[in-house]
Amino acid sequence: MSATAPVRMEFKTELKQLLDLIIHSLYTKKEIFLRELISNAADAIDKVRFESLTNHDLLEGNSTWKIKLIPDKEKGTLTIRDNGIGMSPESIVQDLGTIARSGTRQFLENLKNADVKNRPELIGQFGVGFYASFMAADRVTVISRAAGPAGHAAKWESDGQGEFTVEPCEKETRGTDVILHLREDAHEFLDPWRLRQIVKQYSDFIEHPVTMDVERKKDDKTTVEEETLNSRQAIWLRNKNDIKDEEYKAFYKQIARDHEDPLKWIHMAAEGQMEFRAILFLPQAKPWDFHFGLPKGGLQLYVRRVLITHECEELLPPYLRFVKGVVDSADLPLNVSRETLQHNPLLAKIGKNLVNRVLKTLEEMRDSEYETYLKFYAEFGSMLKEGVTDFENRERIADLLQLESTITESGKFTTLAKYVAAMPADQKEIFYLIGETRSQIENSPYIELFKSRGQEVLLLTDPVDEYLVTTLNEYKGKKLKPIDRGEAADAVPAEEKEKFKPLLESLGKTISEVKEVRLSARLKESASVLVADEHGVSAHMERLLHRMGRGDETPADKRILELNPQHAVVQGLLKLQTQNTADARVADIGRLLYDQAVIAEGSRVKDPVGFAKRMNDLIAKGLG
Ligand code: ADP
Repeated sequence: MSATAPVRMEFKTELKQLLDLIIHSLYTKKEIFLRELISNAADAIDKVRFESLTNHDLLEGNSTWKIKLIPDKEKGTLTIRDNGIGMSPESIVQDLGTIARSGTRQFLENLKNADVKNRPELIGQFGVGFYASFMAADRVTVISRAAGPAGHAAKWESDGQGEFTVEPCEKETRGTDVILHLREDAHEFLDPWRLRQIVKQYSDFIEHPVTMDVERKKDDKTTVEEETLNSRQAIWLRNKNDIKDEEYKAFYKQIARDHEDPLKWIHMAAEGQMEFRAILFLPQAKPWDFHFGLPKGGLQLYVRRVLITHECEELLPPYLRFVKGVVDSADLPLNVSRETLQHNPLLAKIGKNLVNRVLKTLEEMRDSEYETYLKFYAEFGSMLKEGVTDFENRERIADLLQLESTITESGKFTTLAKYVAAMPADQKEIFYLIGETRSQIENSPYIELFKSRGQEVLLLTDPVDEYLVTTLNEYKGKKLKPIDRGEAADAVPAEEKEKFKPLLESLGKTISEVKEVRLSARLKESASVLVADEHGVSAHMERLLHRMGRGDETPADKRILELNPQHAVVQGLLKLQTQNTADARVADIGRLLYDQAVIAEGSRVKDPVGFAKRMNDLIAKGLG
């Protein structure tokens, strides 16, 4: 970098797209840029405070943490100044010229312009906060000096149009000045009253003081006072009874970067053997990154009000990754490093407590606020189901499940406990059927026998259900049993089997897709059905694997074709075959029965044209 001329550089492509979105979209809430910049400044202060615990030199005698807003009406600029960790000339290019997070890139790929227009808060959610500056400014200058006696300063500048410049400069003290050259229509952000209001609304909980010089007139004399705009109270340390709902909500929005209120919050204060405080939030809806398969779980971890990490994943298991919040422990050492957190036994203990409280809250919701619980379940039920791997809490999670069955109305639920309570005395297992949609499996031939016996079958349609039932395996000593595989308990009488033997053998030869053709005791109305072996892969699983592109790795398990000996078509077929073993219609009709079974299980017929032809031949004959 030359000492005189600024170096001109281009933004990385995806950042250009993002800036384009920011500048050319209409925002309803321009002011969120300030929240983003204050939060960056606070992060920078947290970082230097944390690092100075092991490297005292970084402080250079300046540890009065402060974020200062400097509106300048004459120049039309607003400066946000901090004495945080700062950026070196190299890192300023990296930090402000690229998008580091892969999630943001993905986000951009998935997002259409219109979506951002309607939902500006998304920008904050994706950690591209700094660039929100361009919502209010047509030029942004950043002057920063990295912490430490050897720190160099750099000046970064851009109009957000695709390029930025960097040049060395002088700055006496550690930290960063972000100078916004405000657009004409953004001059409201020079008004001290407006700034005070925005800070109160969005950044009141920031631990470090956000200050501003204000003029006060008294007896014709004007004095300037530095005013602290935020109350700086760590809400989790306060007494529950003194905190208004509105305060919890605002705090949630700040830490979760959500614009909706939380669904529920839990304020904990553990004392005695283990001391910690926590506020946990259940959101109303999935955050956007969850939709892109980039779930970032984790709670903010503080040690005596000092932020250690934003995303401590060790506190909660992945199946509770939707929970947001803060934990502040008095027992952890302040210099605990982020790397060793993983192995800290105290964290595991706190975590156990938190899991317990979250599950308890869900149980209470289920029992006394069922509608709210269902709302929660619709959003996060699939994630919660992953929790059946948590051996200690498996039963509690099983009891939180809401399941549809042949007895519930569509969209209404039963539970495993209710199912078991209603089981006839001679029923030993919990029956279920997995498929794509309720209507598909509800009318499938597998259900017929159970319906006729008045037995309830759970109807599972969530993609994770296959994983859920195989992991759970049993509930209160009752095995979970899929009804689309294995032999149906009602055996077919031996003489029936004997009578149909030649037909079944000949069909077995012509329908090479199946492992075996046998008689069925599970069918009441349908003529045919496909079943998997006791330990075979079900049709649903096979479709899932195919969709995941793994169909080829797992050779399709041949299934068993079962025929209903009571059905007129099957009986007619037997008659044809007995009269003339060489009758070509036997094979054709047999194949039609197979195709029907394929359709009934929700799969696709491999040869639809052939299927249509066989059907039409039959219909034509029928019409005479
Ligand atoms: P995020 O803060 O979510 O990482 P930003 O786009 O807001 O995303 O900031 C990008 C990076 O620039 C930050 O991660 C940080 O390293 C750096 N940065 C931004 N503002 C400051 C600041 N005031 N002091 C030090 N570094 C900063």
